[in-house]
Amino acid sequence: MQKGEMLYEGKAKRMYSTDDPNRIIVEYKDHLTAFNAQKKASMEGKGHLNNLISSIIFQALKERGVKNHFIRMLDDTHQEVLRVKILPLEVVVRNITAGSICKRLGVKEGLKLQRPLVELYYKDDALGDPIINDDHAILFGWATEEELKKIKSSAVKVNDLLSEIFDSVGITLVDFKLEFGRTQEGEIILADEISPDTCRLWDKHTGEKLDKDRFRNDLGKVLEAYEEIWKRLSLSHEGGKEEL
Ligand code: UDP
Repeated sequence: MQKGEMLYEGKAKRMYSTDDPNRIIVEYKDHLTAFNAQKKASMEGKGHLNNLISSIIFQALKERGVKNHFIRMLDDTHQEVLRVKILPLEVVVRNITAGSICKRLGVKEGLKLQRPLVELYYKDDALGDPIINDDHAILFGWATEEELKKIKSSAVKVNDLLSEIFDSVGITLVDFKLEFGRTQEGEIILADEISPDTCRLWDKHTGEKLDKDRFRNDLGKVLEAYEEIWKRLSLSHEGGKEEL
C-alpha cells in the first residue's frame, strides 16, 4: 500500500491517498489539543498509543457487527481505512455527566444517567462545534432523517458494546464522541477514531481519570494514562498484542 499525497490534516491526524481510490491511510499525530485548539501540546508516543487503542476498538466493534472504516494497522502510527465522506456531525453519547454538559446545564459531574443521552454537534471549528438537534441536521442537509435514525441507533449499540468492553478491563465509559461517514455506495458507517482523546474513561475502582481530561485539566501523567488503557485492552483483545 503506497502512501500518496496528503488529503487533509486535522488536529490529531493526517489523511493520505493510496493507489486504491477506495482506501486511504490515516496517520496518528502526537499533537493534543483542547478547548477548541486554544490549548495545544505534543507528546511523543501519543499517536502510537491512540493508533493501537483505536485499532483494537474498531476491530472489536467490527467483530461485533458494527460496520466501520477500519481495515488494518500498518505500523506504529498508520492505519489503512475505507475512504468515506465524513458527515459534519459529532455524535456524543453520555452515561455519566462530565465536561460540556455540566457547564451548559449547571449539573454536577458524575451523575449517572438513567439511560444513555445522545447529543449532536455541528462540526465547525470556527463556530466552536455548536450543539444542534435533529431538525437542524435534516433541514441544513447534513444528514437525512433516515440516516440520523441509523446513526443514533448505531451510537447506542456502540455504547453498549464499548461499555461492556471497558467494564471487563475495570474501566467506566463515561462519555465519548463518534463520527460517521458515507461510503462511495452511499452507506453510512462508523469512522474516525475512538481513543482516550475522544472518550472519558474512569478507573472503575478508584475513579481515576484515564483520558484527555488529564491534559485539559493539567492533571499530569497523560501518556501514562493512555498507556494504561492500551495495556488493559491489549491483554484482553486480539490484535493489540504488539509491544510498545
Ligand atoms: N469530544 C471529542 N471531540 C470534540 C468534542 C468532544 O472527542 O470535539 C469527546 C470528549 O472527549 C468527551 C465527549 O466527546 O469524551 C463529550 O465531550 P464534551 O461535550 O463534554 O466536550 P468537552 O468540553 O470535553 O470538549
